[in-house]
Amino acid sequence: MNPEKILKQTFGYSSFRPGQKKVIDLILNRKNVLAVMPTGAGKSLCYQVPALMNEGVTLVISPLISLMKDQIDSLKQNGINAAALNSTTPQEEVNPILRQAYEGKIKLIYITPERLAMDYFRYQLNFLDVDLVAVDEAHCISQWGHDFRPAYRQIFEGINSLKSKPTILALTATATPAVQDDIGQQLNIPQENFIITSFARPNISFKVVNSPQNTQLYIAQYIKAHPDDAGIIYTNTRKKVESLTDYLAKKGISVGAYHGGMDAKERSQIQEAFQFDEFQVIVATNAFGMGIDKSNVRFVVHASSARNIESYYQEAGRAGRDGEESEAVMIYHPGDLHQYRYFIEESDADQKYKELQYQKLQAITDYVNTGECLQQFIVRYFGQDCPPCGKCSNCLNQGDLKNITTDAQKVIAL
Ligand code: ADP
Ligand code: MG
Repeated sequence: MNPEKILKQTFGYSSFRPGQKKVIDLILNRKNVLAVMPTGAGKSLCYQVPALMNEGVTLVISPLISLMKDQIDSLKQNGINAAALNSTTPQEEVNPILRQAYEGKIKLIYITPERLAMDYFRYQLNFLDVDLVAVDEAHCISQWGHDFRPAYRQIFEGINSLKSKPTILALTATATPAVQDDIGQQLNIPQENFIITSFARPNISFKVVNSPQNTQLYIAQYIKAHPDDAGIIYTNTRKKVESLTDYLAKKGISVGAYHGGMDAKERSQIQEAFQFDEFQVIVATNAFGMGIDKSNVRFVVHASSARNIESYYQEAGRAGRDGEESEAVMIYHPGDLHQYRYFIEESDADQKYKELQYQKLQAITDYVNTGECLQQFIVRYFGQDCPPCGKCSNCLNQGDLKNITTDAQKVIAL
């Protein structure tokens, strides 16, 4: 079996997307690889195809249980047997799963980084032939990233303790050059094996809307102008999720709410209902999204500014995963940014960390104030370049150039 055959026969796709084949070939040659590809680019396939070609087992390290569940369900639809081991797996199911993996009946096991840190689990893994470890959402390994997770720091030690000396594939959609280097150093991936595809999302039109008089009304009108399209509205507090959901429902919009204060069952019901188009719009905090795979989301509107470019691009990038034309709108109130600044000031983090947060806040402040192409601004933030997109609100509005240098727009007090 070669990769192309597996792509066709098992996944039903006719050709690889940019970067996928390169990553797969390196892995099959047992090289450690860092793949940086935008959301929706098809990172999962980069380890799923080798997993099916390898003799042994592939471990996939993933930060979220909900994300594992989605992946396993979709693998099963393609006839691939995969399993997850996490804190919700009953103890009596662990050994049978490992046994099936040992017998070659399960090719992929999804685990949390915390599980890999457990001594007894490492001991059990040594009965298996682990060919590949895929580290999904690899930016969580870096304190320079926006989602640092301490257990990610121990991943390399965990992999290194395995007798079978597996190949390592790190995957992320949002890594600045500093974060890429950090991932490479921590997971022993040489720079020549960084496969970075373009950060640009040519099917998304970005738009910044400065302080509408009535944000809720603006959003209701926006949704009504897109009656046949599914969309996500992000806002930054649970209370705002609830009040905006009520408001939109009263305007006759079919809407669901999602935030971290709801219990897990409620959240997965809402997520599923949205996935199956049971309502048009979901209003959510940033608790919603990592790993959601609804391909026909046509718009993502941020009712409050995101805290940094990394989060913004990841959230906005949930629009248009199917490649169709989509919109990402950021509604911006200077007050949101002042509030984020206040949170940083008041937090008891150390000075170095605070400075990093200020820098990130400065970048998003520059984003909402820039007169340049918004797509180009984001791509440059991630250390690449692209031509002006020709369709963001700035490209369409070149006469109205803004000035980003006024003191009022500086986040960092000098
Ligand atoms: P990512 O993890 O990069 O955000 P996923 O791995 O979840 O993206 O893939 C996004 C979607 O693209 C999935 O529905 C997947 O099946 C699809 N996909 C991946 N590779 C291909 C391909 N070569 N051709 C067509 N569709 C693909
Ligand atoms: Mg993914």
